[in-house]
Parts: sequence; C-alpha cells; structure tokens
Amino acid sequence: MMVKRKTDPPDFLADLEGELFVDEPMSKHTSWRSGGTADYFYTPENRADLLALLAQLPLSLPVTWVGLGSNLLVRDGGIRGIVIRTSKGLREIKLLDGKRVYAESGVSSAKVARFSTANSLTGVEFLAGVPGSFGGALAMNAGAFGVKPGTGLSQLNARTARASAPGSWRGRFRSHIDRCNCRRRAGLFQE
Ligand SMILES: Cc1cc2nc3c(=O)[nH]c(=O)nc-3n(C[C@H](O)[C@H](O)[C@H](O)COP(=O)(O)OP(=O)(O)OC[C@H]3O[C@@H](n4cnc5c(N)ncnc54)[C@H](O)[C@@H]3O)c2cc1C
Repeated sequence: MMVKRKTDPPDFLADLEGELFVDEPMSKHTSWRSGGTADYFYTPENRADLLALLAQLPLSLPVTWVGLGSNLLVRDGGIRGIVIRTSKGLREIKLLDGKRVYAESGVSSAKVARFSTANSLTGVEFLAGVPGSFGGALAMNAGAFGVKPGTGLSQLNARTARASAPGSWRGRFRSHIDRCNCRRRAGLFQE
C-alpha cells in the first residue's frame, strides 16, 4: 500500500512553512481519483511561502501546478518533479477599491462569483457553474455563456520559478500566458 509520508525537506526546500510530501499519489488530488505519484507534492502555506519556494527551486526541477484537480487526468507513471497545489494556502479574496476583486489562484471559481455578487459587482457570474480554482479557470481559459475569464480581468500577476517572471498584465491574458510560457508554471493570478 502506498503510504503518504511527510518528509524532512531536501536542501532546495529549506525554511518553508507549507506541507511537503514525497511520492504522493495524485489520485488523492484529482476528481477522477486516478494517477500515479508525484515526486514532490507541496502545498504552500500562503503567498509569501510560495514565493520563497519559487526562489529556491532548482531550475532543472519540472514544476506542475494543481488547483482543485477537477480537470486533471494523471497517468499511472505519475509526475516527475514538484507539484504545487494552490487550492489550500492561496485563498485570499478581497475588495480592492470597491470596484475590483483581488483573488488568489487557489480561490474557487464559484467563490469569486459569489463574492463579486455579494459586493454588487457583475461580469463573472458565469464562474458560479465552473468547478475548480480561479487559477485553474484562468489557465484553462474556462468560460460559459460566451464569457471568458479574461473579460473582466484588469491585472494578472503570474510567477514562475524562472527569474524572468512577468510583471503586471495589460491586454489579452491568453497571449500573455502563452508568451511567458506560464500555462503550467505560473502560480499567482489576481483579478
Ligand atoms: C462538471 C464540470 C463542468 C465544467 N464546466 C465548464 C464550463 O462550463 N466551462 C468551462 O470552460 N470549463 C468547464 N469545466 C472545466 C473547468 O474549467 C476546469 O475543470 C477548471 O477550471 C479547472 O480548475 P482546477 O482548479 O480544478 O484545475 P486543475 O484540474 O487542478 O488543473 C487544470 C489545468 O490547469 C493548470 N493549473 C491549475 N491551477 C493553475 C495555476 N494556479 N497556475 C497555472 N496553471 C494552473 C493545471 O496545471 C492543469 O493543466 C468543467 C469541468 C467539470 C468537471
């Protein structure tokens, strides 16, 4: 039986606050309940913890981002490198100036819709019916009723393990994500 075990962090994961597992079955983190093990599976405690992790990751280590795992079919061979789960520690959502919502990538799409409605903001109602995290919705360009998440997006911050992390975003978010090759590497999105 595969046993989930917490481990002493390897050298490249020192002084972090989040939770690290080795050989973690991805079946525990996907809606399909299938998939082999991830070499490392890290759940950051918060945004600062994630940034600390990204700053010390070896560039050679493959990174895979996971939100709520609603759209992931992981092969039996598992995932090499590190999987970073956003849906537990990156869940801050707040009103910025009465007109905009700041949402970290791990907030569920449904919560972004509910929070916006509760604050009399329109435009993202369609997210109420989209499962998964807001970061996952952005990465997948999830939409409904002809509306895409980029429609109401005013700013997007994406970080990678590479130093060439993009800054703030203006314009078409899809091409921004493609340009910086962050579809699988970016971890922080804010609206
Ligand atoms: C029942 C059902 C109904 C759905 N209805 C719709 C619909 O109406 N419209 C629609 O467009 N889609 C729909 N979807 C798909 C939906 O958009 C995705 O399931 C969801 O957006 C994925 O979010 P997640 O957090 O679960 O991502 P995951 O399944 O965890 O990941 C999906 C992909 O996004 C990447 N990813 C996740 N988070 C990040 C991040 N922070 N940074 C970078 N990459 C990231 C992952 O690496 C992976 O490639 C539906 C899915 C289901 C199961």
